[in-house]
Amino acid sequence: MRPLQAIFFDFDGVLLDTEPVHCACWAEVLAPAGLILTWDYYRNHCIGIDDRDMLRTLALQADPPRDWDSLWALYPAKKQLFQQRMTAPPFEPSLAVMLSGLHRQFKLAVVSSSSSSEIEPLLVAGGIRHHFDTIVGGGDVKRHKPAPDPYLLAAERLAVETALVLEDSAAGIASGRAAGFEVLTVRHPAEVADLLRHRLSPG
Ligand SMILES: [Mg+2]
Repeated sequence: MRPLQAIFFDFDGVLLDTEPVHCACWAEVLAPAGLILTWDYYRNHCIGIDDRDMLRTLALQADPPRDWDSLWALYPAKKQLFQQRMTAPPFEPSLAVMLSGLHRQFKLAVVSSSSSSEIEPLLVAGGIRHHFDTIVGGGDVKRHKPAPDPYLLAAERLAVETALVLEDSAAGIASGRAAGFEVLTVRHPAEVADLLRHRLSPG
């Protein structure tokens, strides 16, 4: 087996339990437009999906259907709301310690469908930005997860051929596998440290 060169982390639901916050912020900005977004719907249909694609579906399903541009125009307000609610991002305490150890052995990247401009301030505020060699965000690729493109771009930027991917959503897992990488499924950010320890322990 070729030695592992890199570890790629999805952001939402892997490094940080952000999905309920994303959902609440979207629900808040969509409500005045007459669209109801529930956690149940978001959990089943929107996690791991690029925001633009999520809004495309919501616009079509709305009664009456909306045009996509009018919904996408709400993105800056959603982004601002999310930043306000995440001023002290609750990263797992074990994460920083683990990342500095991993970074001595492997190249590390964050690979997300969220915009880098949403992710990077949270990594900085959490004091862990310097552990990552690159951040691939939703704006960096044309084809989003479940396409392999985001993970292939991370590998290209870091000049690596092998990587371990940590993902929580079906679209993200499919993306990592389509890029040809091993994928660990994460159910909650709290289990990431143990999952990695288990996978990387010799024997
Ligand atoms: Mg995720």
